[in-house]
Amino acid sequence: AAAAAYGLSSTATSFPTSHEKVQQYDTPYFIDNKFVKSAATQYIDLHDPATNELITRVPQNTDEELQAAVRSAEKAFKGWSETSVLHRQQIMFKLVALIRENWDRLAASITLEQGKTFADAKGDVLRGLQVAEAACGAPELLKGEVLEVAKDMETRTYREPLGVVAAICPFNFPAMIPLWCIPVATITGNTLILKPSERDPGAAMILAELCQKAGFPEGVVNIVHGAHRTVNFILDEPAIKAVSFVGGNKAGEYIFSRGSANGKRVQANLGAKNHAAVLPDCNKNQFLNAVVGAAFGAAGQRCMALSTLVMVGETKDWLPELAERAKALQVNGGFEEGADLGPVISPQSKERIESLIASAEQEGATILLDGRGFKPAKYPNGNWVAPTIISNVTPHMKCYKEEIFGPVLVCLNVDTLDEAIDLINANEYGNGVAIFTRSGPTAETFRRRIEAGQVGINVPIPVPLPMFSFTGNKKSIAGGGASTFYGKPGINFYTQLKTVTAMWTSADAISKKADVAMPTHS
Ligand code: NAD
Repeated sequence: AAAAAYGLSSTATSFPTSHEKVQQYDTPYFIDNKFVKSAATQYIDLHDPATNELITRVPQNTDEELQAAVRSAEKAFKGWSETSVLHRQQIMFKLVALIRENWDRLAASITLEQGKTFADAKGDVLRGLQVAEAACGAPELLKGEVLEVAKDMETRTYREPLGVVAAICPFNFPAMIPLWCIPVATITGNTLILKPSERDPGAAMILAELCQKAGFPEGVVNIVHGAHRTVNFILDEPAIKAVSFVGGNKAGEYIFSRGSANGKRVQANLGAKNHAAVLPDCNKNQFLNAVVGAAFGAAGQRCMALSTLVMVGETKDWLPELAERAKALQVNGGFEEGADLGPVISPQSKERIESLIASAEQEGATILLDGRGFKPAKYPNGNWVAPTIISNVTPHMKCYKEEIFGPVLVCLNVDTLDEAIDLINANEYGNGVAIFTRSGPTAETFRRRIEAGQVGINVPIPVPLPMFSFTGNKKSIAGGGASTFYGKPGINFYTQLKTVTAMWTSADAISKKADVAMPTHS
């Protein structure tokens, strides 16, 4: 009943399919497998980015509520960590099936709260679902190693859960990022406190309901809300052993240092400025479509958005054609048929993006395609920025140095591949990069010398599938990338390695004298 009262009453077949005003509700938090209304005195208003109509109020959970969520997770840990990995795997199979059944419903929540198109929101869910599917392989991934050191001695390793762990999520992938954490943290035997972005917690709330339906015991997955106060609570709470963060550099660098100083494991994926080097020998048509999709899809609000083009030699002459294709994209409400990109998340974000475009103009760049001032007829009040291309950009300009996180492509010119590599490597960020070429040796040289963590060869957004790991580099990941999300490194992040050495000496070998020298295993 609580869920129904707070807007979680939709089912796999009934959910919003338009931006029409929905009945406003307060987002509950999720503790002990129940949706509970917060006693909060502070709320954060959440508006549909296409209309700026109020959808829900997200509570800043009280300290007592945050404490209760940790106690719930602590209480659940013993029982959950002692269940067999096969039992946890069965629950994960059910969660996977439920996410598939509720795929459209999750996507609709994302379109409504985050703004991305329905088709793109389905991709957001899918990329998270794939992590849950891969997590079902935990019995294989959790296997330890064993070595028979000598005829009477062996050493073996175990991967044990950490305890209560926490996740702090960004607004841009409301399903995918929670699903980078929930499956891997729980299948390894931990219990989890997850804080979705206060700007779009709806998908995480649906995932909580699906976790409960899949059979997770009470307290294994808890969802709390809020902004900095909740983050500080997580960072300072001694019972929380590890923190996963995805978001921008300002919050992420702070979270990494405060969490680490408090003795927690922290993995933190941060901001980006992803470049593509385009060579004259590439397949031009494929390049044009790939870059337009990767620069402007999701209104440029992806950490792997291709936001910076390095045009080698005569490829700069392709810019007018690129602009034609970008101009043909439909900017509209995410539920509308044929929409290619939706609004940006907030009026503040729109203002920030527009001011970065203005700064480029002031610094002498050319605004080749100007998306400022655009409004789709049906949604005059949304946070619209249409595709924008800025050419003749140089590395000292603000629009090059800062992550724009909007539908804006900045273009720089160089003469050679070497210059392109040097320019890209001089950038502080190192999340993703792409090269467009038909030459194997050129691609190989680029692959070897480039410093970004995820390289696409004729692939514009090379996000690794979950059997690999998300491997940003440089300023795009805190802690030098020692800890990365999902895949085998994700399993390692959420587990403590224990090494056991056992000796079973035969009776006749028992000596009366202690051996005090360091054993040599000879
Ligand atoms: P954000 O950093 O503003 O917010 C992320 C989370 O941190 C939210 O839950 C928010 O409540 C919290 N937070 C924000 N500011 C805080 C502060 N000062 N102190 C404590 N907590 C704070 O990020 P966002 O705007 O939601 O997401 C966009 C950013 O995330 C972009 O920079 C993007 O590149 C990055 N991102 C990175 C990846 C990756 O894998 N590298 C993936 C997705 C998004």
